[in-house]
Amino acid sequence: MKGGGDKVDYVFKVVLIGDSAVGKSQILARFARNEFSLDSKATIGVEFQTRTLVIDHKSVKAQIWDTAGQERYRAVTSAYYRGALGALLVYDITKRQSFDHIPRWLEELRGHADKNIVIMLVGNKSDLEEERAVSSEDAKEFAEKENLFFLETSALQATNVENAFQTVLTEIFKIHS
Ligand code: GDP
Ligand code: MG
Repeated sequence: MKGGGDKVDYVFKVVLIGDSAVGKSQILARFARNEFSLDSKATIGVEFQTRTLVIDHKSVKAQIWDTAGQERYRAVTSAYYRGALGALLVYDITKRQSFDHIPRWLEELRGHADKNIVIMLVGNKSDLEEERAVSSEDAKEFAEKENLFFLETSALQATNVENAFQTVLTEIFKIHS
């Protein structure tokens, strides 16, 4: 880039929420560093990771926040949600309970975040089709009812991770640019 210009036009904060072990940290690792680990430790320390992409000829820095093992109900603090313009609401397609908890996460998110927040419901671990416990139809129906985007992803196989973030960031861009 000319003159080493790493000008950033926009910074958009996006939060990852959902039960523990659904794959939030691996989705982030895939998006931010194109990495994946099968024995990922419970998240510690790092608050967010960034990746800069170009949307409509503008440089957009996505600042993606990951819960630091605070997934117990109501343990995520309001600082986590503050200023978030987008959210990935993640469940594990092989863990029914993680999907059953989605309404709670959604309620908590809507109680804390920007009223225009762009929300993507994400059914992760789509590579484990033989262990599926949540049908795509059920999730799609819920997403439509609640006005959420919806995708199934696999952080392991890198399926739809890029698509999920791109969709959310492009939608945020439309609202805030
Ligand atoms: P978090 O607690 O929501 O941050 O979940 P992690 O990202 O730590 O992932 C929990 C476990 O699920 C780890 O063993 C990951 O390797 C595994 N995992 C994450 N994403 C996927 C995926 O897409 N497919 C499969 N098969 N395993 C995954
Ligand atoms: Mg984690």
